[in-house]
Amino acid sequence: MKAIVLVKQVPDLRTADVGIREDGTIAREGTPAVTNPADLHALEAGLRIADEVTVITMGPPKAEEVLRDAVSRGAGGGVLLCDRALAGSDTWATSNALAAAIVHLGGADLVLCGATALDGETGQVGPEVAQRLGVPQATGCEDLEVDRGRLRARRIVEGGYETLSLPLPALITIAETSFAPRYPTLPGRRNASKAQFPVLSAADLGLSSDVVGLEASPTKVARMEPAPLPDRKCRMVGSDFTYENLVDKLREQGALDTTGTHALSGDHSDDPPTADQASTEPKLWVVCELDGDCLKGSSAELLSKAVELAPELGGGVGAFVAAAEPTAALPDAARFGSDVAYLATSPQLSPYRCQPHARVLADAVRRHQPEAILFAATTTGRDLAPRVAAMLDAGLAADCTDLSVGPWQRREHRYEALLHQVRPAMAGGVLATCVSPVVRPQMATVRPGVFEATPRPRRTEVVQVAVALEPGDLAVEVLDREVRRSDVRLAEADVIVAGGAGCDERSWHLVEELAAAIGGKVAASRGAVTAGLAPRALQVGQTGTTVHPDLYVACGVSGALQHIVGMRTARTVLAVNRDPDAFIFHVADYGIVGEVEEALPRLTEAFRGVSNAGEDN
Ligand SMILES: Cc1cc2nc3c(=O)[nH]c(=O)nc-3n(C[C@H](O)[C@H](O)[C@H](O)COP(=O)(O)OP(=O)(O)OC[C@H]3O[C@@H](n4cnc5c(N)ncnc54)[C@H](O)[C@@H]3O)c2cc1C
Repeated sequence: MKAIVLVKQVPDLRTADVGIREDGTIAREGTPAVTNPADLHALEAGLRIADEVTVITMGPPKAEEVLRDAVSRGAGGGVLLCDRALAGSDTWATSNALAAAIVHLGGADLVLCGATALDGETGQVGPEVAQRLGVPQATGCEDLEVDRGRLRARRIVEGGYETLSLPLPALITIAETSFAPRYPTLPGRRNASKAQFPVLSAADLGLSSDVVGLEASPTKVARMEPAPLPDRKCRMVGSDFTYENLVDKLREQGALDTTGTHALSGDHSDDPPTADQASTEPKLWVVCELDGDCLKGSSAELLSKAVELAPELGGGVGAFVAAAEPTAALPDAARFGSDVAYLATSPQLSPYRCQPHARVLADAVRRHQPEAILFAATTTGRDLAPRVAAMLDAGLAADCTDLSVGPWQRREHRYEALLHQVRPAMAGGVLATCVSPVVRPQMATVRPGVFEATPRPRRTEVVQVAVALEPGDLAVEVLDREVRRSDVRLAEADVIVAGGAGCDERSWHLVEELAAAIGGKVAASRGAVTAGLAPRALQVGQTGTTVHPDLYVACGVSGALQHIVGMRTARTVLAVNRDPDAFIFHVADYGIVGEVEEALPRLTEAFRGVSNAGEDN
């Protein structure tokens, strides 16, 4: 079997931050450059499965280092795409170049890449390359094997896994949770030092400036700024401020109210349905996801935001729903403000598979021509959106945390009413605002939990969408899906107690007991997940869930930026850490400097005292 692995050189954001220059561009000079960590896992998967592994990278001459790194670990050879004409490419243009290079090399049975890159964190290049090559994809996989001439891939989904069977050739993106990369060997290093890597230009690949480079890229970065952190003046529990005072304060502030105000099912509105915009063709679509037969909370959040933005784009809100049959999600979508529901029904659309969903959505978009489309940045949205963007040759911003509509000026051109898509980049250290000034539709995936789901009932017109699939669209089979539902509601929790790597197997039960005493949900930092203390579904942060509870208790969590971006909107934060200089105290309202083993039982006791007193009253 022949495999091609796509690798990228990135600044090592695990060891140092990047800066932002005065002109708004990223200063990478002070940060060491490494092979993107997830790409090393993809390389490992290739080395274990395939007989022949070639790596391709695109970048400046220095990017040759990652080819040498790959050869030192066992890759047979590598190719560098290096040309000024390729500089500034967004994910659409990068995918055009990489797909052309794969074809130039005679194709492959298996194309692999990391699920995301450390710097951009878009996860889009893999699916966009798959669409260009016309092969099926499986994204965010942590297990992969060849089984009777097909691939069996286990992909991570919210709260569990999904196992897919794919025909070859296929493209797979690999998560960092498996295929631990091997180290370079001595013979490998010798091979790498002698290796010669062909350098290909855009012209060698037959690529014109219409499909690669900055100018051709549909997505433009309008602005870069450091990600601001919340400024909370942390009050420390000490001699003059006791555990009991702390609990009283939290109760006074209403931080212990666990009535479930975030739950979608608890939302009701007495407002009668309105039809303000029903006569207007929707210009802003939300691609809705279903939970069983109901609308997912993340889709309700997007519809609510779309209701605010749609008038500025000159139309109403469209809800795109693809399902096996007409579904209860339509009334849900109407409740959250859709003017028109575009409904595609076919048994072939359930369970979710990327290619049939992408085909139906792309066809509907071509027919109805919305200005912009929003997807939730779930494992489904981040699988589907890039494939559709490649089909429509549209720009896509990943994992946005804010959206607005406004003008944008570029040189002598002024563009009115563009969707401004704000997204964290560079491991959360930078906020980038992206726009797609020319190509339509403008597309974004949006992090769940950043907008509130607010019922605004509308009279929704249902428009049936044609389902015209091609035989290849159904080549992927869903073999199995394991989702533990109890793990996936963190985004809606009012009180969260999160444990970090400062806990261990012996103290983890203290986190659970504290959560039980306050009626909260248990969550974890990535440090705790990596230590095996909690499942990945409980991870809060950049690559976990974004939460916005009334109270967030961080126990033995250091406060890495990637964690903070997921909990920064908590109304009140209480941190317990043995290190008085831990960064988590900068984003906490209340702090306890101490060992979790000692502080958590005292907190639990103090909270229990309050609830018992409440029962006595
Ligand atoms: C691309 C990328 C994405 C990432 N995404 C996420 C994400 O989504 N979520 C996330 O959480 N991280 C994420 N990370 C990882 C992040 O950078 C940190 O490594 C991680 O958050 C650290 O977890 P931690 O705070 O539990 O562990 P550590 O950083 O090891 O901190 C442990 C803390 O516990 C304290 N401590 C130790 N023992 C005790 C004790 N007995 N009592 C009290 N305190 C104690 C220590 O003082 C320390 O502050 C990501 C990283 C990258 C590169």
